[in-house]
Amino acid sequence: MIQRIKGTMDILPNETPLFRYIEGIMREEAEKYGYGEIRTPTFENTELFVRGVGDTTDVVQKEMYTFADRDENRSISLRPEGTASVARAIIENGKCSDPMPLKYYYIISCFRHEKPQAGRSREFFQFGTETFGSDNPASDATVISLAASVLRRLGLKNVKLHINSIGCKECRPVYREALVKHFDAKKGCLCDSCKDRLNKNPLRLLDCKNPDCHAIALEAPRTVDHLCPECEGKFKMLCSALDAMGIDYVVDPSIVRGLDYYTGAVFEFIAEGIGAQSTVCGGGRYDGLVESLGGPRLSGIGFGMGITRLILAMRELGLDNITPPTPSLYIAALGERAQIEALKICERLRRAGKYVECDVVGRSLKAQMKYANKIGAAYTLIIGDSEVEAGRAQLRNMMDGEQTEVLLDSFDVL
Ligand code: ATP
Ligand code: MG
Repeated sequence: MIQRIKGTMDILPNETPLFRYIEGIMREEAEKYGYGEIRTPTFENTELFVRGVGDTTDVVQKEMYTFADRDENRSISLRPEGTASVARAIIENGKCSDPMPLKYYYIISCFRHEKPQAGRSREFFQFGTETFGSDNPASDATVISLAASVLRRLGLKNVKLHINSIGCKECRPVYREALVKHFDAKKGCLCDSCKDRLNKNPLRLLDCKNPDCHAIALEAPRTVDHLCPECEGKFKMLCSALDAMGIDYVVDPSIVRGLDYYTGAVFEFIAEGIGAQSTVCGGGRYDGLVESLGGPRLSGIGFGMGITRLILAMRELGLDNITPPTPSLYIAALGERAQIEALKICERLRRAGKYVECDVVGRSLKAQMKYANKIGAAYTLIIGDSEVEAGRAQLRNMMDGEQTEVLLDSFDVL
C-alpha cells in the first residue's frame, strides 16, 4: 500500500468546508482592503529563494525541496514561501512602474522539509499578502489591520499581536555588534545551532526555542533601544496608528522573523493554548527585497498566515464546526422507470440551482431511506411505478414527517 508522504495531508470532504470557510473570509477581507489575487508557479529557480529568502536561513539551508530539472541544467525548488515569487513576478511583469502601492494576496501551499508535528507540516497552506511601494507606517498599520480583521472574523479571541522593529541598514550593524557581544560572553551555554549562527545571523538567536538560549535572549539588548531616529520615528508612528485604530498589541523584542529580507517593523500573531507552533501569522517589512532581485528600489511589507495553525486555534475555542452543505431533497426510486424519473427530476431541479440527490446504486427502499438520513436531506420523495404513472408522489419533510402531495413535473424545493 503506497502511503502519503510524511508531513503531508489528505483533506477530506468533511474537512474542506472549514478550509473553504476560512479561505472565503481571507478573500473577502483582502478584497475589501483592495488586494488583488496573484497566482505564481509552485516551483521556481532555486536561485530565487537563495537570493530572496536568504542563504543563511534555515529555510534555504535545510528545508527546501530542491531538485535538478529533467532536461535542463538547472536547479528547481518547490516554493517554501510566497513573497520571493511575488517580488519576482512584479519585476518580470513590469508592475514596478504602476501607481503605488501594489497590493497582492494569495492562498497557496508551501513546502518545507521540517520535522512534522502539530502545526508544522511539510506541505502547508498559507494566506499571504504583499504590499509594495510604500515605506510609510500607514501601510504597516493597514497590513496589520487586514490580518487582524481576518482573525477577528474567525472569532479568534485567543490570538495576540506582538510587534517589534528590527531596524534598517543604518541601525542594524550597531545593534548586531551589541548582540554578538552579549551572546559571545555566554557562548558556552548556547545550543549548537546558535553557536553556529552567532556570527552569521545573530538576530536569529533571539527566537531560538532552546530554554538556555531563550533565557540568554531575554537579557539581550533590544532592537527597539538601538533604532536610528528614522526607524524609531516610524515605529512610534505605527504604534500610534494601531492605538488610534483600536488594534491591541504588545511590543515584543523577541520577534525577529526567520527570513533574511526583513527590515523595520516585524510582527506575529500568536495563539494561546495550541502548543509550541503558536504563531498563526508572521510578517514584516522587506524594503531591500525587490532591489536584491534585480528590480528597482521598492519597499514592501507583507505577512503569511498558516491555515492549519488557524484551525488549531479555532478548535481550541470550539469554532471549527463548519459542516458540509446538505441536500434539499433526496429521491428514493424503486424500479427502472422510477430511476429514470428520479434522474429527470434531479436534472430539472439542479438546473434550477438546487442541491438534490437520488439513488444511483439500486438499493432497497430501507437502505435508500437510511442514506437520505445520513446525508441530512431536508425532504425525501419516494417514487415507484404507480407514482410515475400518476405523475404525483408524497414529499416528506424529514424534520416533522409531514407529507404533501406534489406533481412530479413541476414541484420545487427550497
Ligand atoms: P515558525 O517560526 O513557526 O517556523 P516561520 O517564521 O518559519 O514560522 P513564516 O515563514 O513566516 O514562518 O510563515 C508564515 C506562517 O506560515 C507562519 O506564521 C505559520 O503560521 C505558517 N507556517 C510556517 N511554516 C509552517 C509549517 N511547516 N507548517 C505549517 N504552518 C507553517
Ligand atoms: Mg519555520
